[in-house]
Formats: sequence, C-alpha cells, structure tokens
Amino acid sequence: MRAIEVKIFITTTAASCSECSKELGRKAWIMLVENRGALCLSCADLDHLVFLPSGDAALTRRARKHSTLVAVVLKWSRARKRYERQGLLVEAQALEMAEKECLSNSGNT
Ligand SMILES: [Zn+2]
Repeated sequence: MRAIEVKIFITTTAASCSECSKELGRKAWIMLVENRGALCLSCADLDHLVFLPSGDAALTRRARKHSTLVAVVLKWSRARKRYERQGLLVEAQALEMAEKECLSNSGNT
C-alpha cells in the first residue's frame, strides 16, 4: 500500500489560514497548497491525524507502513538554517497497529 505523503510546516511567525481565515498564531501547523495557500489542518483535511514525534525509528516505520496518509512535520531551525523533521502525522489506527507490532516483536526489525 502506497501512502500519500504531504508536508506540514510549523511556522515561526504568526499565520492565518488562507481558506477559513482562522488566526493560527505562532508555531501554527500549516500545509502549503498550490493555488490555495497556507491551510490549517482542518482545511487540509488532516485534523484527524495523530502526531508521532521522531525518535522511535521502528514505530515510525511501522506507522508509516500502515497509514494511507502520512504528513511529515517540518520546523525551520534558525541555528541550522534548514527545516528539521519533528515527526509524522499518521492515522490513529495506523499508530495503534504499529504499537501493537512493536510490542509483539520488540527487538525484531
Ligand atoms: Zn483553515
């Protein structure tokens, strides 16, 4: 199953959604869409996803495998002058399945 992958950016300045005009404040999570602008997660139809922070490689890989929609969350690092990955947004059921798999065969890659 090939997942649809999109990118989410955590803003460093105050942002508002270009579709619903909601004020998102600083550190807003937005998706940049061609011809639509910066969208909040609900306008981007991503508000049902759950956040999985980077760090657990096995869990991340499994959650990504089970989710039909994956959003990579990126944040601008001023120090490093590049976007850094914060984690993934995946479907809740995909994360659940991934957690179960990690429990049932931990240590097994
Ligand atoms: Zn919106």
